[in-house]
Amino acid sequence: MPELPEVETTVRGLAKVLDGQRIAAVELRREDLRRAFPADLGQRLTGARVIGLGRRAKYGLIHTDRGDTLVFHLGMSGHWRVDPAAIGKHDHLVLTTGEGRRVALNDARRFGSVDLPRTDALDQWPALRALGPEPTGEVTGAWLKRAFAGRTAPVKALLMDQRVIAGLGNIYACEALYRARIDPRKPAGKVSRAKLQALAAAIPEVLGEAIAAGGSTLRDFASPDGELGYFSKAFAVYDREGRPCGCGGAVKRIVQGGRSTFFCPKCQR
Ligand SMILES: [Zn+2]
Repeated sequence: MPELPEVETTVRGLAKVLDGQRIAAVELRREDLRRAFPADLGQRLTGARVIGLGRRAKYGLIHTDRGDTLVFHLGMSGHWRVDPAAIGKHDHLVLTTGEGRRVALNDARRFGSVDLPRTDALDQWPALRALGPEPTGEVTGAWLKRAFAGRTAPVKALLMDQRVIAGLGNIYACEALYRARIDPRKPAGKVSRAKLQALAAAIPEVLGEAIAAGGSTLRDFASPDGELGYFSKAFAVYDREGRPCGCGGAVKRIVQGGRSTFFCPKCQR
């Protein structure tokens, strides 16, 4: 499943093709993904110029000079293909620029979404309105202390609550807790100030390293059928059940809130 670094990498890759360009053609190859495409999507995008791209949590944002923002979510399997040699069965939305370049949103499982809210109302758009701050730089130890005060839920569960911090998924919650040496099962309100400070530093670190790794794959994006956003990453604990930790212990897997948590019981207290 794409997490924040994949979305950020995707946005940076799309920006190289779309930013500043006029959208000459919009092709919708079906009516919906997880929900229907906006009925007037083609009409509002065709002829518009892209004036910037961005990301909020795991939503990619493509702003146009008509005051609209195309908001996309990759769901479980979504990705954009750059200049595909041929349009395939799962390419559901295809944008062609005035330069003749094409990007196709490919989503075999169709858990993704595409919407077109007004740019000036983006903060109030339902999916974005309730989100907490971005994990890449806005979160401090003092802020976590306040957000977690009195909370008895496991710290891992609160880290993944999008109303607390936006865009931090399972992989990077596990990795950040490992780096900060915090037991993921610990009640959030009981984590010490020093450990929360370490956590506030670890979150942008693990995300930043993954974004940098993804960025290095963008060199290849001009190749035919270049797929944006998926790249291999090395994890310290995620998906490493039973593998050794540097401390001599072994990585353990437990299930919290229906999701696998990976951690080292020896290092993380
Ligand atoms: Zn360990």
